[in-house]
Amino acid sequence: MVSALPVSLEDIRAATRRIAGRVVETPMVLSASLAEIAGAPVWLKLEHHQTTGSFKLRGATNAVLSLSPAERARGVVAASTGNHGRALAHAAKAQGAVATICMSRLVPENKVAEIRRLGADVRIVGRSQDEAQQEVDRLVREEGLVMIPPFDHPDVVAGQGTLGLEIIDALPEAATVLVPLSGGGLAAGVAAAVKGVNPKTKVIGLTMERGAAMKASLDAGRPVQVEEVRSLADSLGGGIGLDNRVTFAMCRELLDGVVLLTETEIAAGMRHAYAGEGEIIEGAGAVGIAALLAGKIRSGGPVVAILSGRNVDMEQHRRVINGEGAAFAEDNP
Ligand SMILES: *Cc1c(COP(=O)(O)O)cnc(C)c1O
Repeated sequence: MVSALPVSLEDIRAATRRIAGRVVETPMVLSASLAEIAGAPVWLKLEHHQTTGSFKLRGATNAVLSLSPAERARGVVAASTGNHGRALAHAAKAQGAVATICMSRLVPENKVAEIRRLGADVRIVGRSQDEAQQEVDRLVREEGLVMIPPFDHPDVVAGQGTLGLEIIDALPEAATVLVPLSGGGLAAGVAAAVKGVNPKTKVIGLTMERGAAMKASLDAGRPVQVEEVRSLADSLGGGIGLDNRVTFAMCRELLDGVVLLTETEIAAGMRHAYAGEGEIIEGAGAVGIAALLAGKIRSGGPVVAILSGRNVDMEQHRRVINGEGAAFAEDNP
């Protein structure tokens, strides 16, 4: 069954060899405080220490390295203001390729500057993410640039899967792996790797309660659109694409469940990461800890939670740590 999916364990092993030395093999540490709550050993995979601050560098690096020399010379393009944009900018530059990142005029100047600093050619177009994506499509059509999407691409999924391979190689007896879930590139890759090595390990996707496109799509049995709402876990926003080719089928086949978290729970996860573990993580990276704290995970053995990213606005982080502000108002619609 698993071998019929778009990305195999072999693809992920090949990705590990391809990106070796170009991404950080991140540490995995035991959490005594969470073990007490979970009633099982809990390991934290500290992927927020990855270069550019998230696992997205794995997929972007694997995708850029998988291009033919001619494709690489034409350059890569994406519409992303977040972690994928950062990762693709860095991965392309490291390989001597040009990355063009398209953004709308509404994107704050500091985000634009950050991606420019990583070496990307930033193009500001239109007033929405959709218009930025239209510019990407035009650059592909008219100028021959190669689009590298943030999740729905076999090379991207295989790259994210290298994180799962690191986990299951380090802890083959892992009973449960907790994976932040949005478009499903991370979850698909990690699940293919983990279950490829140990089919008994459960892989659970974690996302915010409202605006969870993959959860709604899995429930509907096909990709569906959901209304976007603001969340502390902003990296988990966005749809999965109505024409999804890779991640929906893989998540449907491989995930053992999806757990939803409220804004209050995500905030508690960020606070625990900071106060209990000394780690600064963004909301999307905190969902594993949040689910454990909320008692939403049952595991008969060792649990691994992936801390997927650290790119949070520091003022927002401070407010969450201090329990201030309206960040959680959305729990009460
Ligand atoms: C992109 C991202 C996710 C979700 O990954 P998908 O592959 O879209 O499911 C989770 N956490 C962080 C920090 C991210 O940047």
